[in-house]
Amino acid sequence: MIVVVNNNAAKEQFDNLINWIESQNVRVHISSGEYQTVLGLIGDTSRIDTELLEGLDIVSQVTRVTEPFKNANRKFHPENTCIDCGNAKIGDGHFGIIAGPCSIESEEQIIEVAKAVKEAGADFLRGGAFKPRTSPYDFQGMRADGLKLLIEAKKETGLPIVTEIMSAEHLPLFEDVDVIQVGARNMQNFELLKELGKTKKPILIKRGLANTLKELLMSAEYVMSEGNENIILCERGIRTYETATRNTFDVSAIPMLHELSHLPVIADPSHACGIARLVKPLALSAAAAGADGLMIEVHNNPQKALCDGAQSLTPAQFKETAQAVKNVLQAIKGDV
Ligand code: PEP
Ligand code: MN
Repeated sequence: MIVVVNNNAAKEQFDNLINWIESQNVRVHISSGEYQTVLGLIGDTSRIDTELLEGLDIVSQVTRVTEPFKNANRKFHPENTCIDCGNAKIGDGHFGIIAGPCSIESEEQIIEVAKAVKEAGADFLRGGAFKPRTSPYDFQGMRADGLKLLIEAKKETGLPIVTEIMSAEHLPLFEDVDVIQVGARNMQNFELLKELGKTKKPILIKRGLANTLKELLMSAEYVMSEGNENIILCERGIRTYETATRNTFDVSAIPMLHELSHLPVIADPSHACGIARLVKPLALSAAAAGADGLMIEVHNNPQKALCDGAQSLTPAQFKETAQAVKNVLQAIKGDV
């Protein structure tokens, strides 16, 4: 339920209203805007008398929210959310480009790629240490050793780092990680999401291979309901009947998620298509559709990559892509 309160309400009246709502065993999420304050009521609101609330002179509107996601809902929080991630921001006008290899493979590799993507315009460095591979016989990532190298690369370049977590048991290793990624395969690992909700770290949640946008928002809700509101959503392609590309990039997810939620939405064109030469056009389409950022795989030697070489850009290709994305952003400024 949403209760819109006029900004000229006296503090005492406002506090009384909050106390009364809380006494109904419902949590209140307060979102203060320039002209009005939106109270998002979370919990069982079925016994709350809407007419009684509407009758208060400080209340201008009461609406029941039918969607099961509340904290993530734009109705609860009309303004865009900006997430602070180390020394970079994503959302509400801050476009963040995350680039780096699929997997961290060696010190030389991650440091070289980190320097190259920084020089080419990346705002964040990515690199997988714990890799969710379809086959147990494929390279599983360098795990804790990989994380140490990624942290080295952060020290070397100053870029905030993004990396995937596969189990809540590994959380102590993620202390120096700026953004924790929940991969597509773990989007509905509810126990993991709840544990991440107890941290204060920005969490990047990738859409599952066969999940709806509402399910993605419910995953965000799992983290937010535990107290961590620092969520970034990521469209990374979904599985369809098409086989020419690794997945099918659902560009409509970007404006639709923006309509449904206040959370930042980024796109991962690399996993969406699986083919390096398609990454640039998909990245441009995501930027034009209003994405708040991109995640792009970059490798210093894609042919030799231990994972996802076919979709990895060289640093030079990434530089060209990042520049073209900036041109698109400039062109659409003020239009999305
Ligand atoms: C990744 O970003 O490295 C990854 C495994 O992506 P996804 O979870 O989207 O497949
Ligand atoms: Mn990958």
